[in-house]
Amino acid sequence: MSDIPQDAIQCLDKGFIRLVDSMGGDDAIVQAARVSYGKGTRKVSEDKGLIRYLMRHRHTTPFEMVEFKFHAKMPIFVARQWVRHRTANINEYSLRYSEARDEFYIPEPEHILYQSKLNKQGRAGEVPQDLKKKVIGYFKEMSKKSYAIYAALSEAGISRELARAILPVNLYTEWYWKNDLHNILHFLSLRLDKHAQYEIRIYAEAMAKIIVEIVPIVYEAFEDYVLNGMRYSRVEQSLLSKHLPDRVIGDILEDLSYQITATLQKNKPRYNDELYRLYQKQGGSDSETDFLLKWTSGEIETGNVREMREFKSKLQELAG
Ligand SMILES: Cc1cc2nc3c(=O)[nH]c(=O)nc-3n(C[C@H](O)[C@H](O)[C@H](O)COP(=O)(O)OP(=O)(O)OC[C@H]3O[C@@H](n4cnc5c(N)ncnc54)[C@H](O)[C@@H]3O)c2cc1C
Repeated sequence: MSDIPQDAIQCLDKGFIRLVDSMGGDDAIVQAARVSYGKGTRKVSEDKGLIRYLMRHRHTTPFEMVEFKFHAKMPIFVARQWVRHRTANINEYSLRYSEARDEFYIPEPEHILYQSKLNKQGRAGEVPQDLKKKVIGYFKEMSKKSYAIYAALSEAGISRELARAILPVNLYTEWYWKNDLHNILHFLSLRLDKHAQYEIRIYAEAMAKIIVEIVPIVYEAFEDYVLNGMRYSRVEQSLLSKHLPDRVIGDILEDLSYQITATLQKNKPRYNDELYRLYQKQGGSDSETDFLLKWTSGEIETGNVREMREFKSKLQELAG
């Protein structure tokens, strides 16, 4: 099995992940999407807007046009979780064909915690140093003992495919893992989450570091809409619309009218005397004097017009 290669990101005590190959980047997604939306004139900002639109509206197939092939080495219990992501192509180190290596995951003391009482699938609560020492001791003892038996069985000529069954799931395995960007983002959304097990989250974080270099615009949109985005259920929405004062919704809508006007102005500058009318067309209701005061304050943010209009219509729906 491989030691940690130079181009890899180390994960856990003896594992790693490295990019073997990739196909396409942000532009491959734009290229594929424009087959359905038509070419038109293109600017970098439009390409970014298109990628963000696709991500926001979960128009996912263009993201499948980009592929990544990784080489990763992880404990078997991490691989068990990883392999549940069924859309990948995998080729794993064979313990029928090759000898197991004496490489076992031993947790760092800071990751040894008690079973969480709140989350049945999680850990929480500081463990005293002497108990941590004991845990690490058991991990080491079991790893050493099981490997010694495995080696003895192997020495005695017992088949590798049977002898391996004596080895515990903290044994390291390794594989090539190829997947498309859409499914990788799905993997990351689940495995970067704080509810995912620490040991697989480490690999997801390393994978994210690799892909952000190749698809920076996609990754930014993924962070904005998926990782840090929020969706509200019907019940949650009804609570919001019942309890959010009209004044608050009105203030947000007013801010959006300013921001949309500022963005339109940035994209295609108009004469100053056209601005107040433009702002009114976006639903703004301040007087012209107040408008001019705010306009010259330099505090108005700009963004993506389409996205802000979508937000506006969501708010209006909430307000009923
Ligand atoms: C925090 C956490 C806890 C978990 N706990 C458990 C657990 O206790 N027990 C357990 O068994 N698993 C558990 N899992 C695994 C989980 O149920 C999923 O199997 C895993 O996250 C892969 O998700 P997926 O099926 O969406 O992904 P993928 O297999 O990558 O599939 C991607 C998408 O393709 C589609 N798809 C793929 N294959 C099929 C198919 N055959 N039929 C229909 N649609 C398909 C689905 O839309 C799917 O969302 C857990 C996962 C997480 C993140």
